[in-house]
Amino acid sequence: MSDVLLDVRDLERHFEGLAAVDGISFTVGRGEVVSIIGPNGSGKTTTLNLVTGALRPNGGTIALDGERIDRADSAKIAEHGIARTFQNGRVFATLSVADNIEVGLHSTLRANRPFRRLSNLFLLRWVPLLAELYIAIVGTPASRREQRRIDEVIAAEIDRFEARLGPRRDDPAYSLSYANRRRTEIARALALDPKLLVLDEPTAGMNQSETAEVLQQLLELKAAGQTILLVEHKLDLVMTVSDRVIVMDGGRIIAQGRPEEVRRDTAVVEAYLGR
Ligand code: ADP
Repeated sequence: MSDVLLDVRDLERHFEGLAAVDGISFTVGRGEVVSIIGPNGSGKTTTLNLVTGALRPNGGTIALDGERIDRADSAKIAEHGIARTFQNGRVFATLSVADNIEVGLHSTLRANRPFRRLSNLFLLRWVPLLAELYIAIVGTPASRREQRRIDEVIAAEIDRFEARLGPRRDDPAYSLSYANRRRTEIARALALDPKLLVLDEPTAGMNQSETAEVLQQLLELKAAGQTILLVEHKLDLVMTVSDRVIVMDGGRIIAQGRPEEVRRDTAVVEAYLGR
């Protein structure tokens, strides 16, 4: 088994003549935490969208565990083992914390069942009411064993965020604080036990103590061997948690290396850090 989990080569994506991602290559090793930093508009989110199948590349290849995924849609890529969270935090507002976590599980555990297309549709369109219907209809005929496993995973994920999510287990997501909604989203992604966890600005909109909590959780995940691809603006967090940092500017990678190497890179200092 190769040490490289994610292998991105010469990746390109254009938007009406603008090269948002302009021929980038990088790898993420098994168990590594790799962060992408760079100024606004440098192509970070587009890169995550390409890796997770939300966007199709105009050129280049993406392989996960040696298998090409650059032509697969996001549902297929989720099945391959990539789970993500979004910059603005996406949860089903009317579903409880526990049900939000369960929605993600149904999409993969039932991957080969007739309801699969239906569940993909929900995940892509994020229609909370339909998702509730899905839980009501599709959730009931689950085999006992499968349901037990789902319940165990939900309990384990809520345990992970026990102090915060434990008391809110059955509360609808709309009643949660912003930080708890984001925790719920991370719990939903982790419930899938992904090979690669992709996080788009997990601390955006969080205060200092909430950010410190996320850092702690990331360090715990890292210690447990979770592979993570992270886009994050808070440099202290990035430099603390990352094994390697990729610096983007204008759709290209202008530097990559260990945090201390990137800090010292003059091109990075000039283009991005500004100090
Ligand atoms: P970052 O995440 O680093 O802020 P993005 O990947 O969001 O950067 O954007 C990179 C560039 O691509 C920006 O110039 C942005 O305006 C452009 N872009 C991103 N998504 C789209 C889109 N769907 N349509 C047109 N332009 C886009």
